[in-house]
Amino acid sequence: MVNLTPDLNNISLDPWDLNTFRENELQATVCRLDKIHPEISGNKWFKLKYYLERARKENKQKLISFGGAYSNHLIALAAAADMNGYSSTGMIRGEEPIRLSHTLLAAKNYGMELRFLSRMAYNRKKNSVQSVEEEATDPDALLIPEGGAGAEGVRGAEEILSGIPAGGYTHICCAAGTGTMLAGLINSAGPDQKIIGVSVLKGTRDFEPLNRAWIKNQAYLQRVEMIHEYHFGGYAKPAKSLIDFMNRTYQESGIPTDFVYTGKLLFAIAGMAASHAFPAGSRILVLHSGGLQGNLSLPPGLLQF
Ligand SMILES: *Cc1c(COP(=O)(O)O)cnc(C)c1O
Repeated sequence: MVNLTPDLNNISLDPWDLNTFRENELQATVCRLDKIHPEISGNKWFKLKYYLERARKENKQKLISFGGAYSNHLIALAAAADMNGYSSTGMIRGEEPIRLSHTLLAAKNYGMELRFLSRMAYNRKKNSVQSVEEEATDPDALLIPEGGAGAEGVRGAEEILSGIPAGGYTHICCAAGTGTMLAGLINSAGPDQKIIGVSVLKGTRDFEPLNRAWIKNQAYLQRVEMIHEYHFGGYAKPAKSLIDFMNRTYQESGIPTDFVYTGKLLFAIAGMAASHAFPAGSRILVLHSGGLQGNLSLPPGLLQF
């Protein structure tokens, strides 16, 4: 039996046409992984698929993972678990709020059991020793690391490029939260392709948040450039300049982005093009990794899409 999957035929390669690109003789294309499913969207499906396979092989009934109240990973897990006949539990960082976020409500509607943990308990639990204990008390459960950030997640992300004609691009660009998707792209890109990872976290440096242990051959790191200047104040901060850019991008190119990851990614690529960071003739593939459900946490009216 195969995993029931979102519809990968929905992925499109959309031209992203900006004056900045034309002036610098660049071509940019956005790979719309966000279109595969409204909730199991973007990279999250790829990062989950080998965990689902492992659950099937090991005869697990239940999938457990970790995340915050707006976690794209948890809503994707809830939907994928439901679709494939597993029960699911979300370990949520922070005390139970009076009103659940859109994300958690949707996860609950997929049958996910929500367990709220204080930040201290959460951080203790998500580390591996505690995770093993958790699994030991429930042999039917498979524990999936926060964000799908583990070997199975990387392996799934290695398949992102195989489904699209990615060979003709000189640069492949993605947002990085845990760096799992980035690791998969680095492992699967061609030898002449540059990989650009835009960190959405404040205070990262060097190859962070990438975990080098996930890279098959350390020589591949020479293809990688990490960008640290486009975090907009940190994770999940809806800066006005970012929101304005997202609205403009939607008006000009019809591409919706999310304010946690892909908005920052596109902003960074446009900014880099404007400062001549790409050689003329570059063909840039920008991965839209999904996450649009997260925009529901913004005040209504801020976004025009
Ligand atoms: C989770 C997520 C990311 C980050 O992926 P990592 O593998 O954790 O780096 C990027 N974009 C979107 C839309 C996401 O939901």
